[in-house]
Amino acid sequence: MDTFDYVIVGAGTAGCVLANRLSEDANVTVCLLEAGPRDWHPYIHIPAGFIKLFHMPGFNWLYTQEPSEWTGGRRILAPRGKTLGGSSSINGHIYNRGQRLDYDGWAQRGNRGWGYADVLPYFKRLERRIGEGDATYRGREGTFAITDIDQFHPLSEAFIQGAVSLGIPRNPDYNGESQLGINYAQRAIMHGRRVSAARAFLHPAMQRKNLTVRTRAHATGLVFEGKRALSVRYLKGGRGGKPEEVRARREVILSGGTFNSVQLLQLSGVGQPDLLKSRGIEVRHALPGVGENLRDHYAPRFAVRVKNMDTINERSRGLKLAAEIAKWCVGGQSILGLSPTQVYCFWKSEPHLETSDIQLTFTPASYLEGMQGQLEHEPGMTAAPWQQRPESKGYVRIRSADPFEQPEIQPNYLTEETDRRVLVAAMRLARKLLKSKPLEPYYAYEDFPGDKVQSDDEMLGAAKERGTTTFHPMGTCRMGPASDPESVVDDELRVRGLEGLRVADASVMPMMLSANINAGTMMIADKASDLIRGKAPPQPIILKR
Ligand SMILES: Cc1cc2nc3c(=O)[nH]c(=O)nc-3n(C[C@H](O)[C@H](O)[C@H](O)COP(=O)(O)OP(=O)(O)OC[C@H]3O[C@@H](n4cnc5c(N)ncnc54)[C@H](O)[C@@H]3O)c2cc1C
Repeated sequence: MDTFDYVIVGAGTAGCVLANRLSEDANVTVCLLEAGPRDWHPYIHIPAGFIKLFHMPGFNWLYTQEPSEWTGGRRILAPRGKTLGGSSSINGHIYNRGQRLDYDGWAQRGNRGWGYADVLPYFKRLERRIGEGDATYRGREGTFAITDIDQFHPLSEAFIQGAVSLGIPRNPDYNGESQLGINYAQRAIMHGRRVSAARAFLHPAMQRKNLTVRTRAHATGLVFEGKRALSVRYLKGGRGGKPEEVRARREVILSGGTFNSVQLLQLSGVGQPDLLKSRGIEVRHALPGVGENLRDHYAPRFAVRVKNMDTINERSRGLKLAAEIAKWCVGGQSILGLSPTQVYCFWKSEPHLETSDIQLTFTPASYLEGMQGQLEHEPGMTAAPWQQRPESKGYVRIRSADPFEQPEIQPNYLTEETDRRVLVAAMRLARKLLKSKPLEPYYAYEDFPGDKVQSDDEMLGAAKERGTTTFHPMGTCRMGPASDPESVVDDELRVRGLEGLRVADASVMPMMLSANINAGTMMIADKASDLIRGKAPPQPIILKR
């Protein structure tokens, strides 16, 4: 059996950052296991390939969620990346850290070292901001490039003007001092290509002799000696593949993501005893929080038919698409270089609130049945509103002892009344913005939900009919103090009651970020690397209120 100092399971957003940082020390050896293949496919690197990766089984786990009352009994698709870079190789490229209060909230829950002052230095050291940014908040020396949009559609500008006319200020940098306001999105795209965590962190580190990356290596279980994690079993080539095992001299780190880190713990006998027994798994270590506290953002998309203006829809087929591909090939501006979202707006459901609780995106394109994945034929534009910090929570549970069976994923969207109230306010705001004066010349009619939908109940009915994930599941291995009975890891990300085992990925987030959560996940992994190496954290950045 091969032995390394550290074994990391999952080469996603967190796994790539960790593999890079841990292998900086030439005196240790690191093994990174990834169930998917290398990130060779061109759709990963062409920004608009996002739309194709949505349904590509080779690079996507293609999970489906359990039906629930507020999804009207629908099973919603939950894509997850399955390749080097993980979900950062299939995501929508948006860079959004969240608000100061998010991280201060984590610290207030008893997680020492996770307040905004503590995590800001990590955000700064990870990024290479190209564009506007105050040096207090933004980094220029990191390897994760963040650029501004370089193609400006007249509808996007009209949408922003409409918001400004309604009193929502243009915010030059929503990753700076304050998130509140509206502007174009900041993206992880550089020289026309996606910047995944693999591109920024893993590929440069793969030249190091002390880093071993094994792809198509599906981890199936952890091996313990007493309470200590010793090694990871995996099947080379996936189901039916060759059984292998790698040993960790120092630590095993789980970075399989919000669904799969839970799955591997539960398969290994770590979790709620009753659940494990009911699935025929011997209980190794009772930890009731494993798989609980799943939260996600839920958004219904407003689709409007457009007149007097071309939208991305028409440019995405036939001869026009051929022209776009040709432009792309010679390095010109093309729809192939676009992210699915062009504009970001952060606003409040109630005027007295101190910060935003609504996030709203705009794009000069529209999707079939409101689901991202296929563009419509007629000209259209879309605004997607959601509540930033949902209270509703669900769970992830294995269905059986089969490591290849997808776990039960139930986010329980909108079960809390607050979430429904804020979502209705967000939907009303979306409609108001789409109907603003600057968009009037191009606004034909609201295709979904349509003018017939007016009351709060009708709005919620529309959310039920077509709401969907915005792909930000988190929280299933919650970080928390010993007094939190559902915490799975402590504030050094060590699994409670076990040794030699940490979790570092989006699953450890104690509460939802007011953000798309790739940036927050990279920060978690970067901080985890210091904790694992016993390195002193960077000096906190103390800001005045
Ligand atoms: C379609 C989509 C769009 C998104 N858009 C955005 C966006 O625009 N901006 C943003 O900030 N966030 C976005 N997100 C969310 C963000 O990308 C994720 O939250 C983030 O990548 C999660 O990182 P992670 O490290 O927790 O997990 P992942 O990046 O999902 O990594 C987990 C890795 O572990 C591997 N793995 C899992 N199980 C095993 C196993 N048993 N054995 C071996 N390997 C295993 C997986 O294959 C994967 O590579 C999006 C996500 C998706 C899916």
